Amino acid sequence: MTHAPRIAIVGAGPGGLTLACMLQQAGHSFTLFELDGHAQARPQGGTLDLDQEMGQLALQRAGLMAAFRRRARYEDQETRLFDKTGKLLFEDCGAPSDERPEIDRAQLRELLLEGLPEASIRWNHKLREVLPRADGKYDLVFDKGVCDGFDLVVGADGTWSRVRPLVSSYSPQYTGVTFIEFGIDDADRRHPALARVVGHGTMSVLGDGMGLFAQRNADAHLRVYATFRAPKEWASSTFDFSRPASVLAELKAQCSGWAPLWHALIDAGNDQLQARRIFALPVGHHWLHRPGITLLGDAAHVMSPYGGNGVNIAMFDAAELGRRLTEQADWSAAVQAYERDMFERARPYALFAAEGVAIALSPAYLKHEIDALERRRARRAEPSTPA
Ligand SMILES: Cc1cc2nc3c(=O)[nH]c(=O)nc-3n(C[C@H](O)[C@H](O)[C@H](O)COP(=O)(O)OP(=O)(O)OC[C@H]3O[C@@H](n4cnc5c(N)ncnc54)[C@H](O)[C@@H]3O)c2cc1C
Repeated sequence: MTHAPRIAIVGAGPGGLTLACMLQQAGHSFTLFELDGHAQARPQGGTLDLDQEMGQLALQRAGLMAAFRRRARYEDQETRLFDKTGKLLFEDCGAPSDERPEIDRAQLRELLLEGLPEASIRWNHKLREVLPRADGKYDLVFDKGVCDGFDLVVGADGTWSRVRPLVSSYSPQYTGVTFIEFGIDDADRRHPALARVVGHGTMSVLGDGMGLFAQRNADAHLRVYATFRAPKEWASSTFDFSRPASVLAELKAQCSGWAPLWHALIDAGNDQLQARRIFALPVGHHWLHRPGITLLGDAAHVMSPYGGNGVNIAMFDAAELGRRLTEQADWSAAVQAYERDMFERARPYALFAAEGVAIALSPAYLKHEIDALERRRARRAEPSTPA
């Protein structure tokens, strides 16, 4: 199929937007559909570290590295690990590095949107289903109506993809781990002791089968995840999210006996609390190629955040699909080749993330975590190979 395809991208997350930037740069038209009403419609979540091999390479290919450098926080590389009594178990005061600089999700979305014409994005379009037509094209059914006649539909619509059912009957499964997320505002000024303990990077506390994980975001905002191994409906039956103060009180009750510093971290939480249950697709998830439909990022291979690579893989999927669509004359063969490589590429990351979540919060996890942190520190200390 050598004519220029009419392309629909579903989802303006990091993956869908990276693909849009790649197509835009090469002068290919597309329409991107997103359920959010506008770019800042909801809090986008915490900070992300973009690695050189995938996330930064994708931005480079999309011509966005200079814009990324202006926003990235190269200095936020510190890591600390404590036990519940407040004893420091591991510290890496990481010097500023190009390896995995941080950027807040909202800033990443803003940066990816900068180069895209407004007319190419349809905000407030929640996809309900994709309908195959007899002529091989697809119609997209939204809450608000139908957009018809696409040659290629790219599902970049995350964990609960509405495009995925056209190629796979798998649904993500609950991993057994639930995060309760909250933020701490203006930490340097209002909570200097907590800001110091989190430092310029991330801090974890592990004990009693639960954890606290805090990360510095832009503007001295701290994002904290209280992490539990718990049944699927545990969060909704244990916490009343309409009363944020009661959720913070319950979190403190869950870690009774922990050092006062960790209770102070919870006390400082703002009222933007939410439960995030962690779901994943099976390791090695793949499908038989179906002409005109493909997936990227979490829609294709959502994995637990214990690998810490989801966004990098999503952006690199997009960069690879974009490269093939713009370089290869036969767009259908380009999609098939992209899928073959993507299945292979995602598998080891999915396995690592699955192993991480399987032992998360167990006594063995502490050693696993310290070993991983030691390896990362050692890698950074290696002299870089001259070009
Ligand atoms: C708690 C938590 C912490 C994480 N931390 C990290 C981390 O530190 N580092 C890391 O690399 N990864 C992390 N991840 C994983 C990372 O967030 C994802 O891998 C990444 O966002 C995937 O990007 P994506 O573009 O594929 O999907 P998403 O980011 O999920 O984007 C999907 C987009 O599609 C839109 N959408 C969904 N459904 C529809 C629909 N029906 N119609 C239209 N639009 C739709 C959504 O609104 C969204 O904009 C974390 C995940 C979680 C849950």
